[in-house]
This record gives sequence, C-alpha cells and structure tokens, in this order.
Amino acid sequence: MSASHFAPAACSRLIVKIGSALLVDPDGKVRRDWLEGVVADLAVRHRAGQQIAVVSSGAIALGARRLGLAKGGRASLEDAQAAAATGQIALSHCWAELLHEQGLTAAQMLVTLDDLEDRRRYLNAASTLDRLLSLGVVPVINENDSVATEEIRFGDNDRLAARIGQAAGAGGVILLSDIDGLYTANPHRDPTARLVPEVARIDSRIRAMADGGSASGMGSGGMISKLEAARIAQRSGAHLAIISGKRDHPLAAYEADGRGTVFLGSRVGSARKAWLAGRLTAKGRVMVDAGAAAALLEGRSLLAAGATGVQGRFSRGDVVDICGPEGEAFARGLAEYDADDAAKIVGRRRDALEEVLGYAPRSALVHRDHMVLL
Ligand code: GLU
Repeated sequence: MSASHFAPAACSRLIVKIGSALLVDPDGKVRRDWLEGVVADLAVRHRAGQQIAVVSSGAIALGARRLGLAKGGRASLEDAQAAAATGQIALSHCWAELLHEQGLTAAQMLVTLDDLEDRRRYLNAASTLDRLLSLGVVPVINENDSVATEEIRFGDNDRLAARIGQAAGAGGVILLSDIDGLYTANPHRDPTARLVPEVARIDSRIRAMADGGSASGMGSGGMISKLEAARIAQRSGAHLAIISGKRDHPLAAYEADGRGTVFLGSRVGSARKAWLAGRLTAKGRVMVDAGAAAALLEGRSLLAAGATGVQGRFSRGDVVDICGPEGEAFARGLAEYDADDAAKIVGRRRDALEEVLGYAPRSALVHRDHMVLL
C-alpha cells in the first residue's frame, strides 16, 4: 500500500465519478454486472455513514447506440445532444434500479457549466446537493448535455466531479478511470513509465506527464482534464484519487491495495475563493508587468499602474484572468471596472485616474479580497 493512500472511508462526503468507457461496453450497452459491484461498494460505505454522490458519464455513449449514431454520438453537437437526451433516461433508470436493490434512494441532478460558474446558481445547486446528501439520498449527477452547447459546457465529467465536490463540501473525489493513475509518461507508449502514487502540487513537471485525449475514445476526459479536476479539488481542500475502474468492486479493491494516484488537497483561503479558482471560464484578461506580478504574488491588489493591457468584454464584477509578462494566467479575480474603463486606466498612476475616468477611482483594478492565485 502506498503511503499516499487516503482512505476514502475517512471523509464524510465523497464524490465518485465513473467514466463512459467503464459504464458502457463497446456495443453500447450498460456493463451491468460491473456496475452492480460498484453500487455494492457504495452501499458498504453508505452503511458506514458516508454521504456519497455519483457523477455518472455514459449518456452520450448509451444514446448513440440506441439512435444508431456514428462516432459514438460525437460527430456533431446536435448528435451529442440527441444521444444524451436518449441515453440519460436509460442511465438514470439503471442507477435508480441498482441503488434501490441496495436499499438506497437515487436522485438525479443534471447541471450545466453556467449552473456552477454563476455564483448565485452555484450556491443554489450546492444547497440542493447538501439537502439530498443529508437526507441520505445518493445524487446521480451528469452534465445536461442535451442543452449544453459547445462553448458553454464542461465537456468532461472529471472537472464536473471536482466542481460538484467543491459545491458539496466533499473531502474526497474518486475518479474511476480506464487507467489506474497518473504515470510519469504515457504507459501505452513508454515501457519505463511509472505510476505516481502521490502529488502534493501540480507543477509543470506533473503537467508534462499528462497527455491529451481519452484512451478509450468513448469519454472525453484524458489525463489533462483529470489534472484540471485535481487542481480544482486540491484548491477546495479535497483529496482527489484517480484509480482503476477496470477491476470488479473497484472501490473495495482500492481500499485494499491503495493503487492509484492521490492529489492531496490543501485549502487556501475561503470557500468563495476556492470557487473562484475552480471556475472554468473568465470574461476577460488583464495583462500585468513583472513588478505587479510580484506584488500580487505577495498578496497585494492589482493597481492600474501595473497593468499593461486588457482583453475581452467584461463588466465590473465579472471574473478576469490576470496574466504575467509571459502571457500565463497566474491569478484570477473580479474586475472593479468594466473593460472600457479598465482599458483607459491601464498603466496610469493613481493620481491620474479621476481625470481619465470622470469619477472617483476605486482602490484597485482587481482587489486582493476578490482575487486568487492559481
Ligand atoms: N456527460 C457525458 C455523458 O454522459 C460524458 C462526459 C465525459 O466523457 O466525461 O455521456
């Protein structure tokens, strides 16, 4: 057992994400026997007092088969939407039935990206989740792919699971995957690749280990979206484990041998800041010079004088990414000005702002209370 093995049983709330390639066989049918094993594992944990939500993929893959659509239903957005609408009802039915067999009650939540990106809607979804979990129900969650559009969708359930974990205040997120963790290189191509048991910090070295694409071609997540999910979870203080779903009773098996990669969570700042850091979208970008970047890293606010440019159409209060001289986004926060006014004051000293704006300036372009470092 690796030292990093976090006992999923130890956290009071757990999110378990199951990928399409595990749930649906290549013929487009639910892998019912395997899923029964997963649900039995969930029931053991539930009886031990753990509150569990499931993030289940598979709607598109299941629906595609029923509708006879090419490319697993992913040939076009319209196909994916139709496949999801058709597959989701079958998927929910299956979950409700299997959970019921274990004496558990299922609930369904279909969410869109905006439901979690908009702060008010996020809090609303969070309170529904909280209520369901406290009632002992098992929410089964998926993206509402039948209405999601290409521009405004998660697209992969890895990040959705991490975001749901954040909304639920979960201590752990487990991604059941067709691979048993993060490897030092792609194990299909490089025989020297080794499994990484524990990651405390996702840096460029860790990022370089991941490469894009889903190995199965059925789901849409790959290691990159899993790392992104891990970043969101870590930031909200939750541990995230990538483990193999290719065994029977995968959760029990993981508990027995601890094989997988655990990304250790470490909460910095408030829940609101974790939500901000975990957002997937920003309305615009503010570029800053090296001096301002250093000041922000020390926890200071972004002043107009340190900004070198703005991009995008954002309003006051919208989320903007803050990018350093190399162009990399290293912080994110709520803009104190809309894009037009921000563009006018870029690079200007504080005493010049009132004249340029025609009103008394705010204390910063992005205030440190509404900013997170990424
Ligand atoms: N939401 C998609 C589905 O249910 C799956 C997304 C993913 O592959 O992660 O089919």
